[in-house]
Amino acid sequence: MPSTEPLSTEDLIVARPQGLYCAAGDFYIDPWQPVERAVITHAHSDHARLGHTHYLAAQPGAGVLLSRLPEIDLQTAAYGERLVINGVTVSLHPAGHVLGSAQVRVEQRGRVWVASGDYKLDTDPTCAPFEPVRCDTFITESTFGLPIYRWEAPQTVFDSIDSWWRHNASEGRASVLFCYSFGKAQHLLAGIDPAIGPIFCHGALEPINRAYLAEGVALPPVRLASEIAAKDKAVFKQALIVAPPSAQGSAWPKRFGDYSDAFASGWMRLRGARRRRGVDRGFVLSDHADWPGLQSAIRATGAERVIVTHGQVEPMVRWLREQGLEAGAFTTQYGDDAMEDAASAEAGADASADASAKSSAEGAAPAASEASTSTANDATSNTANNATSSAS
Ligand SMILES: [Zn+2]
Ligand SMILES: [Zn+2]
Repeated sequence: MPSTEPLSTEDLIVARPQGLYCAAGDFYIDPWQPVERAVITHAHSDHARLGHTHYLAAQPGAGVLLSRLPEIDLQTAAYGERLVINGVTVSLHPAGHVLGSAQVRVEQRGRVWVASGDYKLDTDPTCAPFEPVRCDTFITESTFGLPIYRWEAPQTVFDSIDSWWRHNASEGRASVLFCYSFGKAQHLLAGIDPAIGPIFCHGALEPINRAYLAEGVALPPVRLASEIAAKDKAVFKQALIVAPPSAQGSAWPKRFGDYSDAFASGWMRLRGARRRRGVDRGFVLSDHADWPGLQSAIRATGAERVIVTHGQVEPMVRWLREQGLEAGAFTTQYGDDAMEDAASAEAGADASADASAKSSAEGAAPAASEASTSTANDATSNTANNATSSAS
């Protein structure tokens, strides 16, 4: 790319074709094209891509990042540690999204910008909690930036999953729970009640679970489903089996005999999502902030200017302007969890038709578009009722 911009542009971070760029420090944040120096907010595949010369990420995320991109040149920083890159002060602060997820704070000559990456405010024992960071300009995600997206407390969701699992076990039926393999799966494993029965996982989760355990995150004992010989498959009757969505359309679940299946995702909040997924149950659990969470996180930064990167960009920009803030958007190639789904398909299972349709829409969230065009406008309360009944 031609470097025609002067080195001291007025904005500390701008959008370039390769990614979010800090000209003063000459580095990118979560770039989607190969660059010399990349600061990575977290190891999800739409934020951490292969091909950069140097990587910087928060230390607790090193294990998961290296398990996905083994050969990279990675420098790590503790949360809050201040590094100086070409005269710009850079520090990483917990985003509460997945293990090692960070907001990137950039300071130069008294100006402070923070790029959030993905974040959530709900408690999650598998990662450090979101830390509000004061700044002049906040670059925020908006994956679930519509009023219909309001999460129940995670424990309430775990209780629902537990009772679904307990009921299945009492009837001698396996419980197969689909969720994204990095972040959501570990959040679920840490939240459910392991006393109900044995827990198994799909092979796609195993290296990620191992990286979490190595970082000291407490997870219950989990065995690989593939370790169980066909003659021993009765053990699955009491079991919870956690698998990526890509395993759903494949032959993989058939080994469990009689089973009930469920999907855990923030998208399950949408009317019809469970049916479209073709599962028995939908549990609304997200690793992104809901609408009130986005609002309170943004307010807590004290920023006067907010730039929205992905998800429900227009409704968020509109809301920000209504609050009297200066608001705009960056065009990025950050997706939603569906890209993560596509990444976990490499673990060998076939992508379901639904999953591949979702992930083919790069950078977009088809389910969310439905929400913004129809669901959100006509039926906030209907959607809420449906979501509640399908998750209870
Ligand atoms: Zn993410
Ligand atoms: Zn993302």
